[in-house]
Amino acid sequence: MLTEGFDLTNSVEKSISAAMHSKRFPHAVIIEGGSSEERMSLAKKTAAALVCSGGGIKPCFSCSDCRKASADSHADILVYSVEDKPKAFKVDIVREIRNKAYIVPNEADRKVFILENSHTMGNEGQNAILKILEEPPSYINFILLCSSKSGFLPTVLSRATVYNLGETASEGSRDIPWEEVANAAKSIAVASAALDDIEIIKAAAVFEKNPKLLKAALPVIQEIYAQAMRKKYSACGEENEFSQTVSEIEPRLSRRALLALIENTDIIMNSIRLNANHNLTVTALCTKLRKAVTNQV
Ligand SMILES: [Zn+2]
Repeated sequence: MLTEGFDLTNSVEKSISAAMHSKRFPHAVIIEGGSSEERMSLAKKTAAALVCSGGGIKPCFSCSDCRKASADSHADILVYSVEDKPKAFKVDIVREIRNKAYIVPNEADRKVFILENSHTMGNEGQNAILKILEEPPSYINFILLCSSKSGFLPTVLSRATVYNLGETASEGSRDIPWEEVANAAKSIAVASAALDDIEIIKAAAVFEKNPKLLKAALPVIQEIYAQAMRKKYSACGEENEFSQTVSEIEPRLSRRALLALIENTDIIMNSIRLNANHNLTVTALCTKLRKAVTNQV
């Protein structure tokens, strides 16, 4: 039972609420990190706010849509849950979702799909969902939940805004202030668009003695590139703390370069997961970002 609206002291919930109220909430979002309960609770809150027909703060908890949403009985909020194991999210389920997505909402103005453990979709499933993410009906929202977005194809990532609830305490990146992570990510993004080796090396210097910072910043760097990519497709950007950085880099980078940047950031994240040597990883980051941009057409 949902009883509380967005917690505005939490940076993720605050930015979801802000996007919602500016009516620029994206058609597809990925909520990663945190615990599965935290992800589902935020997804349900977001879904309630999307279908809410009250004025003012959403979810309002007084309209009939909110009441149904909080009792898990809203006909336009569809939750698909699968186990967290490879390929649990079968392509048949994705096809069913796709078919349902083309049917207009029953009661609300919007139809919201919450897909739990959606990272377990294989490539076939992801390609099936990609088709609808590319040209979603105007009333559709997808909320994809996963422990880590690393299971998604770059093409899917480039279509969704990622909200990160933070890693589990054992993985230890919680002790780095968000400000520091965001600033490091912004500097790297700007430097990589500047076509200047020295700028990238300078921006990456903060990671040299700080593996935790690198680990925390990479998903954020990737999200900045993904936002720039979405800006290219939609012309209007998203309102959040990265808007300025995105506006700065987007005109300088081609779609191909942005996709390569998203993919290469992924490669670096994977090598960290495989416990690669830290200094070599920082060097590889500089080289890979540079390559992604210089190979652009
Ligand atoms: Zn409401």
